[in-house]
Amino acid sequence: MKKRILFFCSLLLLVQVSFGQSAKLEGNIPKELSILYTNDLHANFEPILVGWVSPTRKVGGFAKIAARVKQEKKANPNTLYLDAGDFFTGPDICSLTKGEAVIDAMNHMSLDATCIGNHEFDYGWRNLVSQFEKATFPILNGNLFIQNTGKLIWNHPFKILQKSGLKIGIIGLHGKFAFYDTVSDTMRQGIEARDEELYLQQYVDLLRPQVDLVVLLVHQGIPGRQSSKGSVDIQRNLQKDIDLASRIKGVDIMITGHAHQGTPQPLTSKGTLIVSTDALGIEIGKLVVLYDLQNKKMIGYQNTLNFLYADETPDDPATRQCIDKWKERVDKVSGQKIGCISEPLTRSYGEESTLGNMVADGMLHAFPDYELALVNSGGLREDILGPNVTTGDLISAFPFPNTVVKLELKGVFLREIFEHAADQTNGVLQVSAGLVLQYNDSLPLGNRVVSCTLNGKALEDERIYKVLANNFLVKGGDGFLSFSKASANIETHLGVVQTMISYLKTFPVYPPKLEGRVVKLNK
Ligand code: FE
Repeated sequence: MKKRILFFCSLLLLVQVSFGQSAKLEGNIPKELSILYTNDLHANFEPILVGWVSPTRKVGGFAKIAARVKQEKKANPNTLYLDAGDFFTGPDICSLTKGEAVIDAMNHMSLDATCIGNHEFDYGWRNLVSQFEKATFPILNGNLFIQNTGKLIWNHPFKILQKSGLKIGIIGLHGKFAFYDTVSDTMRQGIEARDEELYLQQYVDLLRPQVDLVVLLVHQGIPGRQSSKGSVDIQRNLQKDIDLASRIKGVDIMITGHAHQGTPQPLTSKGTLIVSTDALGIEIGKLVVLYDLQNKKMIGYQNTLNFLYADETPDDPATRQCIDKWKERVDKVSGQKIGCISEPLTRSYGEESTLGNMVADGMLHAFPDYELALVNSGGLREDILGPNVTTGDLISAFPFPNTVVKLELKGVFLREIFEHAADQTNGVLQVSAGLVLQYNDSLPLGNRVVSCTLNGKALEDERIYKVLANNFLVKGGDGFLSFSKASANIETHLGVVQTMISYLKTFPVYPPKLEGRVVKLNK
């Protein structure tokens, strides 16, 4: 309690120093509201090792998050826990239950609201609706519609909550660009995303007269990097969020997801505070705001991002029990041993990676009459540490129900595909053995590929190449639109994970390798 009073006093000081509001506060005690936030949890039920956080101490885990949230709420009842979407897709338990286990676990986590992220569509939008019906916490979205109708796919655009004597309007939206950029065409048949700015304005106009604070939960922008280390990765930012906030008046707080970009200090844009975490539940954000009820305005804030070290936080018993129940159910499938690796298979968003090489080689191994295979770096979601590799490890590494598609593509279109990879909006492509791609991302967009050879020969614009890719990419996923220019397109119905299983089984011990397949020349 003493700690809270001290903190409150320090916030008051912040208010006085930063905003010069001391005179106005006389006889008008500001309301304090604490908002805990996460985004892009990605079904990480268990704590994980994140190299840049600590080489030895694991962070995150649903049972730990639940424990921390409940602890904070107990200590301060004026606390909300909000999330900005992408709770599906990560470890195998999510794919094997099509998200059902995730919703079940989240039912125990004391969530006050979340919004829909692109990965909630990974098993189709109808599955999303049927899984959401099992949720006991509010899931919000106000701009995803059944095509050509006025019907939202999930009819909960906003919610008004009361806390600390304040009425808080919470709106959920999905960025239109992020939706079409990252939701597989197959999984969004019959639905459409509409302009987030237009709908945000409508909801703000509706809510503003009824509430004290407006909070937006939004999932938008450029996708988060999928990589084992950060050194060669692209610097991500929250520009879309800054732009949206600058154009819409009346949003006090924006909690955003998708970019996996933490904000130790909130960004501010035309009076809106923008916050986010580095994703995967490795940290919990805490934004404490002071609100002057008399003058109806936010007058101070303090934000912290706190790593959730597993060794410091006990498990919440109810969440733990729920996770264990689901683990037991999927263990028969996920626990099957497939093979061995001599060292970990890791990921990179900006260059080749050992995992990317293995997946691409596995696809080519399944169809040896083809010349090359391409894999989106964003599809690789987890490293495989080994030495034993199970079905669960492979599903966790590539948790999408994508299939292999056979294509015939002119060299000129392959070049367009590689240029999009080199523009680094969605990460480079991982490629099969024999293809060598060198790029320089300091060169102008569209001219970044410096050289591209297949089995030692330069790519020929007019030659037709026999190419394998997954159906997400082939349908323009991650912005790879030139796959649609293929002169032949045959769906094999063979799952990418199945090709990985078959390929690994051909080795007594698979040796992960880097061979300079995709090289960034400017370091
Ligand atoms: Fe996302």
